[in-house]
Amino acid sequence: MIDADKRDPKKARWARVPSGGACKVCVMLASKGFAYRSAEAAANAGTLAGSSHSRCHCQIVCSWAKGHPELAGYDPAALRKQWRFMEYRDTITEPAGVDPPKADPYWRARQAALRQFGFDGAGEVLEPGEIRFVERMLHRGERVKWLATPSLDPVTLMIPSGKDFRWLSRDGGEWQLKSPASAKYSSVRRKIGEALAKGQADVIVDLGGETLTDELAQAVARYAIPRNIRQLVLLSGDGSTLTTIK
Ligand SMILES: [Zn+2]
Repeated sequence: MIDADKRDPKKARWARVPSGGACKVCVMLASKGFAYRSAEAAANAGTLAGSSHSRCHCQIVCSWAKGHPELAGYDPAALRKQWRFMEYRDTITEPAGVDPPKADPYWRARQAALRQFGFDGAGEVLEPGEIRFVERMLHRGERVKWLATPSLDPVTLMIPSGKDFRWLSRDGGEWQLKSPASAKYSSVRRKIGEALAKGQADVIVDLGGETLTDELAQAVARYAIPRNIRQLVLLSGDGSTLTTIK
């Protein structure tokens, strides 16, 4: 650490530190690291790019702010990777009309493309919904690793209830993905009920492009909190919002 009185103010630099769900412009600006000569320059860079970014909740942090809470996990190299993924995601063309079947080359190619962004699919052929989920997570800068389907237990002759993925950027634990058909409470509750019946401890519910309303979040919390589930997280707004229920 440098003594405060020996710091040369001319050498101070500022960075833009994003929070989860920040837009592509903010992620790009944040990936530059401590590159701004004033707090104003760091703060205004996004406005110059043509948007107010009030929803992005970026923090402007000085290079001398060592140990600042905002800096925990601030990783410009990871943000560059996230930004590259965001650029790539904009080029994805969704199938016109009904989704092609899971085995279709369209999905194989779309899943294979995720490898260059560090996604490990464990040799599994993902369902279309799972591919879209992984894309939403990478878009947020999350790191996930898919888990191979467990094989038949030779003693019980049953297939153990498998988890879907390892959430590397959260707790490193094994999580179950649930994708309800709609953001209706009945549909979400049914999916959480399925996870409960299988004894799944850590569950993420992907609401796709739907927005999470306060009513739905409250209803889900009332249902899930007294029940035997360790962690419950809702992903909504096409991946822009991650809400921890429990
Ligand atoms: Zn932004």
